[in-house]
Amino acid sequence: MFRLSSRCLRISSPSVHSDTLLSWYRHEARRLPWRETTDPYRIWISEIMLQQTQVKTVLPRYMAWLEQFPNIGSLASASLDSVLKAWEGLGYYRRARFIHQSANIIALEHGGIFPQSFDDIMALPGIGRSTAGAIASFSFGLPAPVLDGNVKRVLKRWRGNPEATDRQLWSSAQNGINDSGSPADWNQAMMELGATICSSRTPDCARCPVSQHCIAAFQPTDSKSSKKVAVKDVHWQVALYTCPTRGVWLTQRPATGIWASLWTPPITELRSPPEEKPCHVHALTHRRVHLYSNTIERDPVGDGRWYSSLNTVALPTGIHRLLEKHGVQL
Ligand code: SF4
Repeated sequence: MFRLSSRCLRISSPSVHSDTLLSWYRHEARRLPWRETTDPYRIWISEIMLQQTQVKTVLPRYMAWLEQFPNIGSLASASLDSVLKAWEGLGYYRRARFIHQSANIIALEHGGIFPQSFDDIMALPGIGRSTAGAIASFSFGLPAPVLDGNVKRVLKRWRGNPEATDRQLWSSAQNGINDSGSPADWNQAMMELGATICSSRTPDCARCPVSQHCIAAFQPTDSKSSKKVAVKDVHWQVALYTCPTRGVWLTQRPATGIWASLWTPPITELRSPPEEKPCHVHALTHRRVHLYSNTIERDPVGDGRWYSSLNTVALPTGIHRLLEKHGVQL
């Protein structure tokens, strides 16, 4: 398990470029609700929601989540179905399952109190080293670095090393945090710089607070070297059983795989694409899901339930779109 070494725990006085960066962050950064708190529960939820999801999408969902699950106890005692429903539309549902699992571990093994040591935080399901660093530094002031995609990009440019390995970047991030004297603000500042100024395609070096110290400042960007994700096409036949009085027949997906544990009409995977056009195509990170649908009037067989309302059941966005195209409004 990763441990902070005693060397990592040393914090020296801030260097000149640390001062410049921290001052910029304190005066210019966006005000975001998860930056106004040191509550580890709130910071944890925001960090998980912000993975692969934009701030503007997360903001309303974060506030709604805290209304529904204001603390670890309320989350731990909720059903997985209600947690998945609250996550609906954010995608990457594995994150919601891990959150629920972690809340139960905290309730059972930590007396409902969010763990304060870096190792205990990182031992929770779905929390990697970078997310643990965010929670540990923002909530408890520990000098643990964050190394998300934004921070990696800034460090590579700043140090003039586009081929830097993760090991080198962790070391660089740790040195930066040690020099800063302010772990929380240093991490936030690096994330903010990557998100708002040192963007992947068009870094705005003219506005950048660290341009005087940055080796890549005002040079062509490295965005062309970013790797493309391989996407595989899958073709699924969706059996739509609908009834004017009983609603729509849904079954729960298996606990692993695409749309795990969510509810959908019965789905059969096709070996090859049919001649007809798909009713809806839903893009995931590594898959493009082509959905073909047929409406069926006889009674369904197998596991499942009729739902006359979709307000309490978690459906993938792709299935919502498919139902809309069939005029199913529940
Ligand atoms: S000077 Fe330009 S390349 Fe360097 S960190 Fe700032 S925005 Fe990024």
